[in-house]
Amino acid sequence: MKCVKCRDRAAVHIRRHNSAFCQGCFQEYFSNQVARAIKEDHMLTRQDRILVAVSGGKDSLALWDVLSTLGYDTGGLHIHQGIFEYSASSYEKTTRFAAERGLSLITIDLAAEGDLDIPGVASSTRRTQCSACGVIKRHYFNKVAVEGGYTVMATGHNLDDEAARLLGNVLHWQTPYLAVQSPVLEATHPQLVRKVKPLYRLSEYETAAYAFLRGIDYIVEECPFSHDAIQLQYKEALNQLEHRSPGTKHSFVLGFLREGRKAFAEASAVQLKECLSCGYPTTSDICGFCRLQEQVHKAKSGLRN
Ligand code: AMP
Ligand code: ZN
Repeated sequence: MKCVKCRDRAAVHIRRHNSAFCQGCFQEYFSNQVARAIKEDHMLTRQDRILVAVSGGKDSLALWDVLSTLGYDTGGLHIHQGIFEYSASSYEKTTRFAAERGLSLITIDLAAEGDLDIPGVASSTRRTQCSACGVIKRHYFNKVAVEGGYTVMATGHNLDDEAARLLGNVLHWQTPYLAVQSPVLEATHPQLVRKVKPLYRLSEYETAAYAFLRGIDYIVEECPFSHDAIQLQYKEALNQLEHRSPGTKHSFVLGFLREGRKAFAEASAVQLKECLSCGYPTTSDICGFCRLQEQVHKAKSGLRN
């Protein structure tokens, strides 16, 4: 098969676009898809200061690579979750990536933030690791961005992530989540920054290929707690559909964004208040992060008494 652009030997085949690219043209295609998402969805401008959430995995490192290559003003944020070898290795890949490219990186060590490491939080509260991790990460993503004067927060969610999340939300008719499932979430409060997902048009396979071709050293292992198994099952189901009918994920996600989301957004507009404890926006009196932190403190002081 030949590259559809330069007729050289193809290295990456993209069935849903019925096309194939050589190594160089694929990197150009990848970066064009990111640029297109940024432009069409009004994600970023050259004036923005962008905080990129980097886990050390292929998606977020590919995102940081492409945004900095496109000349955007970026800084990284890595959250050290305290998940044994997995976190040690994620931290190592992230710090090396930043150092090699001279990019600035902020690291938050959850164990040092009042015992908020994920294994500890899960055992001292009755939460699953994944739900605690989600609440904690979202809190720090926003807080670090606001306090650091960043105007946008970018994550590495790709098309497969968005399709799996959409499938889960539809299967359970999670209408409040459907209302806010979007590659861009505008800041609706002075203590919130805009959240963007510039890779949402690119599949997991494409981000892996990009990371490989760019020589990015990323952590391959999944989080040992990522028995967010249901999310993985949704991905598997979607992969089967995609295999038979290339383009399924793309039309599912982009069709929803074009046709469906607005209806849910209008139906469930929420009123934001400020958390009585930390001051960050929330829909209840005390935000999810502060409730979780309180549970951890109670469990720890119970242990000490
Ligand atoms: P996940 O929830 O693991 O699928 O990750 C989704 C996105 O969240 C990644 O692409 C990153 O942008 C971000 N992210 C996940 N884990 C971390 C972490 N430990 N530190 C910083 N960002 C993260
Ligand atoms: Zn709070």
